[in-house]
Amino acid sequence: MMLGKAKWLLIAGLAVLLAVAWAAAGTDLVSREQGVDNTRLSWGFVKRGAGKPPLIDRTLTDLADQYGALYMLTTGNRTVALTFNLGYEAGYTDDILKVLEQEGIRAAFFVTGHWLETAPALAKQVVQEGHLLGNHSWSHKDLTALSDEEVRLEIMRWDEAARDLVGDTHGLFRPPAGVFSERVLKLARDLGYSTVFWTIAIVDWVPMEDPSLAVRGVVNYLHDGAIIMLHGTSQDVAEQLEVIVDSVIAAGYRFRPLLEPITPPAR
Ligand SMILES: [Zn+2]
Repeated sequence: MMLGKAKWLLIAGLAVLLAVAWAAAGTDLVSREQGVDNTRLSWGFVKRGAGKPPLIDRTLTDLADQYGALYMLTTGNRTVALTFNLGYEAGYTDDILKVLEQEGIRAAFFVTGHWLETAPALAKQVVQEGHLLGNHSWSHKDLTALSDEEVRLEIMRWDEAARDLVGDTHGLFRPPAGVFSERVLKLARDLGYSTVFWTIAIVDWVPMEDPSLAVRGVVNYLHDGAIIMLHGTSQDVAEQLEVIVDSVIAAGYRFRPLLEPITPPAR
């Protein structure tokens, strides 16, 4: 008798599990057009300390490697790259560009379609001053919730607008809010884009109580090959940028662009 009861409980339990699995699969239908996994992932990691790259989950790095996504520079020469995200123009890009020019640093700016439309002169200036202009999608949506065609549109609408403004784009893509899936990585790659993640980030999308946190949040986690992500919409970042940059250099690191023309070896 007891065994019979346990069996029915087991069957009922399995039925519930199946129903849950079926419901989950149903919500995923629209996004599986390519038959590529669309599990929603967030780029993230566990910070360690100065000199050590963060611990990043293998699921994330395996996918990044498989689709040619960049999250660190090649190591061995104590270089780091500086990248900015711009969802909209908050009035600080001008100051940021001034600091970069004065320090002789070339950075990458991942901007949305909205930013391109509202700050076209700055977009031109970014490229003229030797920085990379990166695709941060047209409208900053969760791309894992869109169909293949909608994701392509988010990337290509940006691409066309950027080409109209600056003539060429650099094939670099950063998914909004760092939210992505294998499918999103594949769609971006198939459009000729390399996805760019990061290994150092600070909470700079809300005003800081103590702006020196912007400096410590970068400097305390510096490591060889780091890709630093800051928000160009942050007043704290704009105001602290010179100190951040000087502290990075004082710690023995050099800045280099995400992409550098490769000099062929001398014969
Ligand atoms: Zn963003």
